[in-house]
Amino acid sequence: MLRSALLSAARSPALRSAAEHSTLARPIVHRFVAGDQLDSALTVARELVADRLVSMDHLGENTENRAQAEETTQAYLTLLGRLDDEGLADRVEVSVKLSALGQSLPGDGQSLATDNAARICARAAGAGTTVTVDMEDHTTTDATLETVRTLRRDWPGTGAVLQAYLRRTEADCVNLAGPGSRVRLCKGAYDEPSSVAFRERSEVDASYRRCLDALMAGQGYPMVATHDPALIDHADRLAQGTDREFEFQMLYGVRPEEQRRLAARGSRMRVYLPYGSAWFPYFMRRLGERPANVMFFLRSFTSRH
Ligand SMILES: Cc1cc2nc3c(=O)[nH]c(=O)nc-3n(C[C@H](O)[C@H](O)[C@H](O)COP(=O)(O)OP(=O)(O)OC[C@H]3O[C@@H](n4cnc5c(N)ncnc54)[C@H](O)[C@@H]3O)c2cc1C
Repeated sequence: MLRSALLSAARSPALRSAAEHSTLARPIVHRFVAGDQLDSALTVARELVADRLVSMDHLGENTENRAQAEETTQAYLTLLGRLDDEGLADRVEVSVKLSALGQSLPGDGQSLATDNAARICARAAGAGTTVTVDMEDHTTTDATLETVRTLRRDWPGTGAVLQAYLRRTEADCVNLAGPGSRVRLCKGAYDEPSSVAFRERSEVDASYRRCLDALMAGQGYPMVATHDPALIDHADRLAQGTDREFEFQMLYGVRPEEQRRLAARGSRMRVYLPYGSAWFPYFMRRLGERPANVMFFLRSFTSRH
């Protein structure tokens, strides 16, 4: 209930505008978001790469016009230029949302987003790094996978994201487990109907296990994006005694001590690092994942009044 309410609030333009212009929420937002500006995000990235890998995300989604899509594309090109100049590109890749690159625009939105993503992939390749295409709500899954397929023709290292809560995902994992295929497996962060998604936590976790089994048995490169200790153990068990290459991924601000522990024992550990002023929908999804975050957030308001 609470999660659905938060995810519905995440789509409200009025709430979004009010929150993003308010300074009250900033301290808690900055637990999950590395600042509004690229410079502050790069400062955090420089610290993280001491023991972890990073995937940087310029926040934004559901772009409303072509100018915004171009602005987001330019922000990624600038980011990649800085990663290149500062020698960070061997440890930092980027994550992009196609809806921020124009996918949701009427008419040629899908091809505009694919073209913009291709410009970002070309710059990333020039810098010596990769791009992973985030997955958004289920109405975009087919179109997003189609774009990833197109991008992989020229940039085979382009990463896809699959969400274990979708009933279709086990089959997608089998299809995407081919040689060279980088696939990030997460549980899924949107409010999806039961017609397309498992709604019970136990069902999502069981699906995650089956999906991970398929990816780990395949020939691609699994990216195990979860903070769930039972699923981290499951990945460890599948990899034990094999030379299987894979990486763990976690969000900036979530279980940082576990991130450091996995990195210290020699596991490949990547942190998803978002930055930018359009933080509201991302932040609301983080609140929805853990009720304790909501209390912490509300307390941050009451303690200021
Ligand atoms: C690197 C990465 C990339 C992602 N990319 C996408 C994407 O492209 N599309 C998409 O739909 N989803 C994405 N997600 C989000 C994902 O789908 C889940 O919503 C999120 O990771 C929570 O699921 P979990 O696997 O950690 O399990 P959960 O069962 O939700 O959490 C397990 C434990 O982790 C801790 N935890 C989890 N979330 C939080 C939080 N927000 N705050 C504090 N503690 C927390 C808690 O201790 C919790 O008990 C991504 C997640 C990661 C880690």
